[in-house]
Amino acid sequence: MDVNKEELFDKVVNLSKRRGFVFQSAEIYGGFRSTYDYGPVGVLLLRNVKEQWWRSMVQFRQDVVGLDAAILSPPAIWEASGHLTNFTDPLVDCRECGSRFRQDKLEDQNKCPSCGANSSFTEARQFNLMFKTNAGPVIDSAAEVYLRPETAQGMFTNFTNVLNTSRKKPPFGIAQIGKSFRNEITPGNFVFRTREFEQMEMEYFVPPSDSDKWFEYWCKERMDWYLNLGMKEDSLRLRVHDKDELSHYSRATSDIEFSFPWGWDELEGIANRTDYDLNQHAKASGNRLEYNDSGSGERYVPHVIEPAAGATRTAMAFLMDAYEEEEVNGEVRNVLKLDHRLSPYKVAVLPLSKKDELIEPSKEVLNLVQPHWMCDYDQTQAIGRRYRRQDEIGTPYCVTIDFETLEDKAVTVRERDSMHQDRVPVLELIEYLSSRLVP
Ligand SMILES: [Zn+2]
Repeated sequence: MDVNKEELFDKVVNLSKRRGFVFQSAEIYGGFRSTYDYGPVGVLLLRNVKEQWWRSMVQFRQDVVGLDAAILSPPAIWEASGHLTNFTDPLVDCRECGSRFRQDKLEDQNKCPSCGANSSFTEARQFNLMFKTNAGPVIDSAAEVYLRPETAQGMFTNFTNVLNTSRKKPPFGIAQIGKSFRNEITPGNFVFRTREFEQMEMEYFVPPSDSDKWFEYWCKERMDWYLNLGMKEDSLRLRVHDKDELSHYSRATSDIEFSFPWGWDELEGIANRTDYDLNQHAKASGNRLEYNDSGSGERYVPHVIEPAAGATRTAMAFLMDAYEEEEVNGEVRNVLKLDHRLSPYKVAVLPLSKKDELIEPSKEVLNLVQPHWMCDYDQTQAIGRRYRRQDEIGTPYCVTIDFETLEDKAVTVRERDSMHQDRVPVLELIEYLSSRLVP
């Protein structure tokens, strides 16, 4: 069954709340706008997205190392990076109704989308998107600190530390997953654009003459990551930025875009940042940030290729891409056909009934499986309804313990997508699941 694009958005938002993927933050206080909390299955999905990124970007590569830099940072970093002066949006206010808009996002520069007034806008003011706070007990300008608006600068400021301790040489990368903060004027589209979000970024340092080659390499590598995790080819595209879209320091940028219900929108940007960041920090700090080959005597400032992805919006894209409705025996079955590596639970252990004699063997099966995979255990309601619940949160395998189990020491394993069932001896269960749940 085809799910209508307009309906898909509401369906996924409802599912998120109903099954515990995403909750409105501070809901008991009326909700905190555009801020979300990840529930019991949402946190697992998000962790799995980040884990798969880390596996492909760090674990499987000898040329990339990890980092976890601080969120609080001194103004000097943002002065050097250009964020203090350039990381701004032009804002206008409507004199009639007081609504505030990003000037560059207005469809009609002269008409207020809220009240319809004409020529009611104030002159545009530049508004900095960084969150500022104070470190320590004194509120004065000397104690000002910022919440990082991107994780990238931590990789640049630690360039020499990583170079000296990791024994890497260009081409090599530094990868980081962490929260960033931007005071967006118009957040929206559920978890797509929020003021607090999580990034997965990697800075790849290369000899200057090789930067075009590595840019192409990372565009392809990153597209393949989404496809390899089961995202449909039709749902993805690589959009090359026009010359006038590029930041002044960028030599090339391409976005990986997902076909969201509201249109194509960005999941990840891959940018050739040249030597801009290292040069800026070298100038501002007075420290040389360069690669120095003690063997050949070669010395240069590496250029940087940066694949920067949003973890939270990527998790949402996988949810939307995996959501399907099927007709089974005259009823609609909602199923999340997530790649098993992303599924919150890999296995659900389900006693056929609540009868005492089934509980003990079911707990034994749970104890057997849960050291290997994230498991759910559920013993209430009819088995059919429990299958549907697991389908809806994307659990690839349900293991059912029935009265026959007491005799034949075997369980029924049901696969999510095909709904095919196998009878598997308990002693062979781990082997059966291992061959199907490949990390
Ligand atoms: Zn107005």
